[in-house]
Amino acid sequence: MVTHKCCYSSWKVFSGKVLGKPTGYRKAELPSDQMSSSSHSVLLKTGVQMPLLGFGTYKLVSPEDVSRAVDAALLAGYRAFDSAAVYLNEAELGRALKQLLPKHGLTREDVFITSKLGSKDQGERAMEGALHSLSDLDMGYIDLYLIHWPGTKDLEITDPRNSGNRAESWAALEELHAQGKLKAIGVSNYTPAHMRELIQSCKIPPALLQVEFHPKFCQTELRKVCEEYGVCFQAYSSLGKGDLVTDPVVLEVAKNCERTPAQVLLRWAVQQGVPVLPKSSNPDRIKDNARIFDFTLSDTDMDILSALDCGHKFCRDASQVV
Ligand code: NAP
Repeated sequence: MVTHKCCYSSWKVFSGKVLGKPTGYRKAELPSDQMSSSSHSVLLKTGVQMPLLGFGTYKLVSPEDVSRAVDAALLAGYRAFDSAAVYLNEAELGRALKQLLPKHGLTREDVFITSKLGSKDQGERAMEGALHSLSDLDMGYIDLYLIHWPGTKDLEITDPRNSGNRAESWAALEELHAQGKLKAIGVSNYTPAHMRELIQSCKIPPALLQVEFHPKFCQTELRKVCEEYGVCFQAYSSLGKGDLVTDPVVLEVAKNCERTPAQVLLRWAVQQGVPVLPKSSNPDRIKDNARIFDFTLSDTDMDILSALDCGHKFCRDASQVV
């Protein structure tokens, strides 16, 4: 059994599920074969182990920027990288990793690569879109591939065809998963309704849901749905796209525990067993943001941060997509 140590007691992290205080929806223990073997990773349903800390790559596009950031991230200990077709950096990320892994004494198997199907490829073009990601990354396989968004580009959010397109995309991902090209498959920006729709119709259930999550947007209902279906819940924009690091409450907690605001925000998530994906183009910040496993937040600080929840989003809203 793996325990993720923190002030709350011992949190057991597995399949995206966390046991312990304080929220009501956390559930009973899973069989031991579903638990993770590392305290800094979660075990996805498919048996794939995923690091709790990943590196976000949104807005890193030029080969120089991607290479510099990936080099700093590997040096700082990041072993997971989050890309997407719409970030237009899959090829650059693949190239940077192939060049830099040997320098850091690492191989393909040491890193976990996530990418995502763009909304323009949702539906009948999904297979082609996913194969394009595989080809651009050129790393043999993708560890985790997500449907990026519940809607389809150029369809109204109220267009009933969105639902059929999601199902068609999922079927393509299932096929590539069966072929071993996508080691795990999941979704992003899905609401509770989208999750239920998928879980009721799929052959292979989603391993992970990636959504916006930080103290101002705690996603309580969505986390309950993930908990119920054993779907790993992963955070993006943990730093509120940079805006949350200047929040007075975050600054106060950071001052009290002698950490940076970014570390506090990231620790708040991983201490609940939620994987994070901080992005930075700055090597000092990249290093700083990775130092989140050598301290704990007290119960009081966790509660102070969680009390910021006010439904404030920094990113797009998928709640109206049918
Ligand atoms: P984020 O990680 O919350 O914030 C990134 C911003 O914070 C950047 O402007 C960065 O600037 C700044 N920053 C980073 N470290 C900092 C620090 N220590 N102190 C002060 N500022 C700091 O935002 P995000 O990029 O939106 O989200 C992270 C990743 O999640 C993305 O890169 C992407 O991989 C993923 N994501 C996924 C979705 C989705 O739809 N699935 C949506 C959004 C994001 P510098 O670069 O100048 O350091």
